[in-house]
Amino acid sequence: MKYDPQTALIHAPRKAPQYIETVQPPLFRASTIIFKNTSALFDRHWTDDYDYSYGTHGTPTTYTLGDNIAQIEGGDYCLLAPSGLSAINLVNSCFLSHGDEVWVADNIYGPNMEHLRNLETRYNILVKVYNPIDINSFQPSDKAKLIWLEAAGSVTLEFPDLINFVKKAKEAKVLTALDNTWGAGLAFNAFDFGEEHLSVDLTIHALTKYPSGGGDVLMGSVVTQNKNLHHQLFRMHALQGIAISGDDAALVQRSLASMKIRYQQQSQSALTVLQWLKLQEQIIQVLHPADEHSAGHEYWKEVCETKQSAGLVSVIFKPEYDMTAIRSFCDNLSLFKLGFSWGGPISLVMLYNLSEMRRLPQQHLQHGLLVRFCIGLEKPEDLIQDIANALEKMNKPQSQ
Ligand SMILES: *Cc1c(COP(=O)(O)O)cnc(C)c1O
Repeated sequence: MKYDPQTALIHAPRKAPQYIETVQPPLFRASTIIFKNTSALFDRHWTDDYDYSYGTHGTPTTYTLGDNIAQIEGGDYCLLAPSGLSAINLVNSCFLSHGDEVWVADNIYGPNMEHLRNLETRYNILVKVYNPIDINSFQPSDKAKLIWLEAAGSVTLEFPDLINFVKKAKEAKVLTALDNTWGAGLAFNAFDFGEEHLSVDLTIHALTKYPSGGGDVLMGSVVTQNKNLHHQLFRMHALQGIAISGDDAALVQRSLASMKIRYQQQSQSALTVLQWLKLQEQIIQVLHPADEHSAGHEYWKEVCETKQSAGLVSVIFKPEYDMTAIRSFCDNLSLFKLGFSWGGPISLVMLYNLSEMRRLPQQHLQHGLLVRFCIGLEKPEDLIQDIANALEKMNKPQSQ
């Protein structure tokens, strides 16, 4: 049939061959997915692992990425969300109902805590905060539904007694969800760790960080080994219209090839910077799971058998360095840029006032303002020089 040019332009005659091999998988962009015929339309099941019905459910591009993420983390099923926080939200809204109790570490990723507080007020969900370095602070009642774990925790990087937290939660029939962004599936296997081959029920991962590796894509994932949990999540994911763009998925997919090498390098560079930071007189405490004085160091050794530890290093400055001094330090850095997030090529710095962030007493932490360094892919010696310059220029504390 001969069509008008307007129609012919839309219904192009040339189709990609059935199979053509390229280094990166083909990129599908879709809202509509075209059914071959009415049988294909009526015979589909939304519970299929790969439901090619509509763009929100997924395309080969998003399923390829999801399978890869599940594999890296040691799970079987993966759902993708437009950000790490959105993945957290998916877990909370899927599993928490009116009257449930949820346990959350005091050092959990901050916006997760805020999200739970919001659910607490609106839906009568009881939020209980536990001390990540004291397992006795986790006392689930018979209403307890979910515990959020993070190893190492946000900003202060304490490594919890993951083995015993998971065992205790399982005994109490509490669902275990681990924010796996720090370990990224590379520092340890959240679905098979410790001598007893323990496993969490769910992981969320901010793919924004190491998997993206570029500082230019937002994405999150929820991984599990449990088909039943996956189907509950799958349904909520579909109901909430959580979807990611094919272009973003392809960007993350492209970065996965180098993720392990980047993670190793950033872990290694962070250790080099850490060793130097420990010797600086302005700094009263370094926080890093591989540092023998840091809280939970023994649990890190136990769980992270590969001895990797991501690219994050936090330090607490002596209390005489006030906010003005710390701001001048951050402003005088040149290679380190001031910004949130981590896992990208550029090193980042962020300053925190812990006294405004935590709810429980912090005996293991010195008083003083905290600065977190996220080590990028620069040469560590250059980063050290940058920090040395900024320390040199930092406003000196007022003499007492
Ligand atoms: C960044 C981060 C998140 C959230 O990821 P976004 O994609 O930025 O929403 C969640 N958990 C941890 C530990 C993070 O560092």
